[in-house]
Parts: sequence; structure tokens; C-alpha cells
Amino acid sequence: MSVRVRYAPSPTGMQHIGGIRTALFNYFFARSQKGSFILRVEDTDQERSSNEALQDLYETLDWLGIDCDEGPLVGGAYGPYTQSERIELYKEYAQKLIEDNKAYRCYCTPERLDELRAKQVAEKSKQHGYDRHCRHLTDEERQKLEAQGLTSVIRLKVPLEGKTTFHDLLMGDITRRNSDVNPDPVLLKSDGFPTYHLANVIDDHLMNISHIMRAQEWIPSGPLHILLYEAFGWEPPLYCHLPMVMGKDGQKLSKRHGATAVRDFRAKGYLPEALLNYVSMVGWSYDSEREFFSKADLCELFSLEKINKAPGVFDYKKLDWYNGMYIRQKTDEELTALLLPFLVEAGFVRQPLRADDSHKIAALIPLVKERLKVLSDVVEMSRFLFTEIEAPTVESLLPKKQDAATTLAALKKALVLLSQLDSVEDAKIEEQLVAIATELDCKVNGVFMPIRVAVTGSHVSPPLFDSIRLLGLETTLTRLKRAITILEDEVA
Ligand code: GLU
Ligand code: ZN
Repeated sequence: MSVRVRYAPSPTGMQHIGGIRTALFNYFFARSQKGSFILRVEDTDQERSSNEALQDLYETLDWLGIDCDEGPLVGGAYGPYTQSERIELYKEYAQKLIEDNKAYRCYCTPERLDELRAKQVAEKSKQHGYDRHCRHLTDEERQKLEAQGLTSVIRLKVPLEGKTTFHDLLMGDITRRNSDVNPDPVLLKSDGFPTYHLANVIDDHLMNISHIMRAQEWIPSGPLHILLYEAFGWEPPLYCHLPMVMGKDGQKLSKRHGATAVRDFRAKGYLPEALLNYVSMVGWSYDSEREFFSKADLCELFSLEKINKAPGVFDYKKLDWYNGMYIRQKTDEELTALLLPFLVEAGFVRQPLRADDSHKIAALIPLVKERLKVLSDVVEMSRFLFTEIEAPTVESLLPKKQDAATTLAALKKALVLLSQLDSVEDAKIEEQLVAIATELDCKVNGVFMPIRVAVTGSHVSPPLFDSIRLLGLETTLTRLKRAITILEDEVA
């Protein structure tokens, strides 16, 4: 059997970590099996679907380097791949189910259905959902209703007895009594649009899909889909529902945990290779050790057997760690190209670059490379270099548990030492800065921290001496003097 798998998102929101994880698993499975990866856009919910979400889908897949063998943009032998372009097909198949006595028209008005629901609630009835009222209409009754011009939906005739089992490659057999399945769900709405269930089953069959890999939240739909395959007389594909993606607190990953939209990660400066690598580790592992996988590695090594049954935990810190590791694999030239947009966006430099900005950036890159978690970190790390920083506050200058007088004394001594930076070796100056701490009976950080804040306005700059060299001695001394004045005013 040749493997054909699909990613079938509904373009109702931005692509998020969970969805993309599904896409990646399908993609890697297809590649590892020399099969086909198909993109299908499930946009039958016209109210909730948006063009923005659709564009986000394409951009996200493109950014991650997930290329589709078939799909709306590349076409293919089983198209169209956008469900709203297949409406006639769903109508035909729904009609066919009626002819085969597997489905029926329901003329119930929304008012009747509302009343029914209210009654079920009031009577605390065990019966939920539709009461199958129209399942038993005679031909005559039906013709009468049609003659009145009533609109109808098409519902599946769910067998009243028996059980339905579907087999999941990961979870094993899942069985449900037919009496527990949603009583006669709507397949085709009165506006002629299919519901998810109908369109999804028809397309998976017509597109010759071999394996369905999707989020576990679709498991409850499984028995219903099997009943639909049976109604059509089709062989269902194989199922593999993927473990949930959770936050560290064990709840389904959501905005409460942090960013979930891929485009937000992208905007913050996560690299596609880092996101792709880490997201693939959420619910899959090659062995208990290996952590680094390129896209090409995963295309070769991915296998269904190694998908975990337990939910996967999405750990933002771990992603940061991956991202840092991938950043450090970049050459300085590559990193420059990646960071430049962030420097431009922050208003630090303008393109085309002036020669002195070019030099600054070239000197900056090796210094920040070791420290960046995300590309956008470069903005705070280098603000001191490109802009006139705001005067520090007294609070920001004071290390923990150190008073203004001691800090002032430290900065005054440091000023004298640092003004010799052009003529005395760094190591010597550093030694003497450390000696100040002994002299003033404070921590070493009690000397270095105020200098760093005075000169760079931040705790996250590159190493101190490097920062000073980048900035130039003159500006450095000016900023130190400014901090000294601020502390003098405080002490006075
Ligand atoms: N359109 C569904 C979704 O958005 C597809 C689910 C499936 O893969 O069957 O998740
Ligand atoms: Zn009805």
C-alpha cells in the first residue's frame, strides 16, 4: 500500500503549535515512507474561515519548509483540494446515501429543535440530541413538507443497535455502542454545505488517503466516521490519533501558557529549524538520547512506532534552548542577515547600511551570538550601541543590598581605571576593578553591575569590556560621569 497522508486544517485561526505538530508528523511519515503529503483546506465553515488564516497557513508551511505533493497551490490528480470547491460532490454523495436508505431528509425547524432541547433539559431526559423525528416520515408526509417549501438537512441513519469499533494504531481498538453515537448527525446543511464529518470522510476516501493522523480530540468522531464509511460501503483508512500537546501544568496548550501561534514565534526570532526540531520531539522520540534532528533527518528517521502514547509537554524553555543552539550554528554572515531585520525594525539602523553601522554590526555579532535565545534579544542587547540611552535611575544603578554611597565610590574609582582602557591591558584593569570590591567591602558584582547599567542601560549587554570597545571610550566615560552625578545628587 502506498502511503498517502494529509494535513486538513480549517482556516479559522492562525496556525498553532498543535496543528503544526500534526502537519509535521504527517509530513515526516509521508517522506519516510516515500509516500505523498497532501494539504487539504477544510473551509466548509464559511462563517469562521478567513483569508487571513489561509494565508497564514501557506506562509507557515513555507517558512518551515513543508512542501506539499498535492494541495490547493500545487494541484494534483485528486483536486480540488479546497473543500468549498467540492460542494457539488458532497451533495451528490449525500443524495446517494438517501437513495441507499442510509440517510434521510429532516425538515425540523430550528424552533422545533430548540424546543426539543429545552424539553430534554427540563425533564432531565437521558435522551440527548435529535429525536429522529423525520427518520420515520412516510413518503407522503415527506412530499407534503416538500410541497410546503420547507427546507431540509440530510441526516445519517445511525444504526439503532450494535456497536462500532475503530482501530487506532496507537490506542488500539475503540468501541462504542451505536446507541451512544450522536443520534443521526447532520451530514448536509440546509444551505447545501456539508458538515465536517461528511466532507472529511468523502475526501479521505476519494483522495485515497491511507493513514489519518490527527489530534486526539477527534477520537470521539471516530465511530461516526466508521459508520459513514460503512454507509458508503468504503474501506476506512488506518487511524493514528496523536497524543495531546500540553503545557507544563498538564492542561491543553493554550494562550494561557504563552504564544501558541507559529507566526508569533517567528516574529520573536525563533528559527524554523529549531521550532521544527523541538515540535517534532513533543510526542515523538527516536531514542532516549538523541535531541537534534534536521528536517532531512526526520524525513528519513520518523516512524509511527515511536510516537508516544502519553501527552507531549511543550516546554518553552526547552524551545529557547534549542533555538540558542541553532543560532550558534550559524555563521556570522548568516546571523547578520537574520538579525538585521530586527535592528532595522527597532530603528537602530537603516538600509542601505552606512559603513560605520556595518562595522558596528560586524563587531557585535560574535559578541551576541553566544547569548541570544531568540533573534529579537539582539534589540535589548545592542540598544546602548545604537541609541542614546535614557539616564539610569538610582534604583537601577544599585546592586542588591548595596547603598548609594558605596556604589558611588565604586563608580568614581572605576571611572579613573576605565579611562586608561586605551593604554592599559584589559586583564590589569579587571584585576583592579575586583580590588575595588575588596577595598569597599562589597561584592565584585557591586562594582561591575553599576558600570554595566551606567554604560549600557541594561543587564543583558555583551561582555562589559567588549561593550565598551564597541561603544567607544568617549561615550562610555560620558555615561559613567552621568551616572556618578545621579548618585551624587542622591547621596547629597
Ligand atoms: N479540519 C479538521 C481540523 O481542523 C480536520 C481534522 C482531521 O484531520 O480529520 O482539525
Ligand atoms: Zn427532523
